[in-house]
Amino acid sequence: MKLIKLSIIATLLLMLGCDSTDTFTSRPYICLTFDDQHQSIFTEAYPLMEQFGFAGTAFINTAFIGANNKLTWDQIDILVNNSNWEIGGHTLHHVNLPELNYEEAYEEIYLDWLALVERDLPHHSFALPSGHANLEQFSLISEFYENIRTSLNLRHYAPINRQYLGYAAFQTGYSADIIKSRIIEAIENHEDLVIIGFHSFDAAENDQITFCEPEYFQEILEFIAEIDLEVITLHQACELLGN
Ligand SMILES: [Zn+2]
Repeated sequence: MKLIKLSIIATLLLMLGCDSTDTFTSRPYICLTFDDQHQSIFTEAYPLMEQFGFAGTAFINTAFIGANNKLTWDQIDILVNNSNWEIGGHTLHHVNLPELNYEEAYEEIYLDWLALVERDLPHHSFALPSGHANLEQFSLISEFYENIRTSLNLRHYAPINRQYLGYAAFQTGYSADIIKSRIIEAIENHEDLVIIGFHSFDAAENDQITFCEPEYFQEILEFIAEIDLEVITLHQACELLGN
């Protein structure tokens, strides 16, 4: 039943999308984020993103770049320089911030930020590792970053609170329809921004929680393209919709 509803809405959206007098006053921007520097972000997701001309936002732990099964700095440079991807901070070592004292948290956040700055990479956005930070750490992060993404599945309406963003994370075992439904819900609710989060695309990377089959990822991209939503980076969205 839910699938039937989904396909009816998708058909409706397609029909409306063909109408030059588009009646949608508010259609959400889509941000696609990629956390934790898995090698498959480059080998599996990036080529598909290129097919659709979409630029993503990759949140990286800079201490792990170049490690086994992880992105390399050269690959990150390609994402940014060839395809206008955004890179964001995610702490040096993917720490659980609330477990750290001030100095430890400062080092994890500041040195990660500095690694982006020194490589002339974008450094506007930060994603909380595993979604956790205390209030003091929120204000510390905001000394370095304009945009902060939590792990909450929030609805975003302009003016969005760019220091308290949320996302819908693709989870292991999901079908593409779950993410498509979230996008349809956002259109129905006149949300201004939907952030969709991915992690690994290769089962061999042993991501038990947020692994996404490349074919499901492709299906999600096809859906976004079919209903003609605009994919932009997180910082672009914050600049357009933020307070
Ligand atoms: Zn992470």
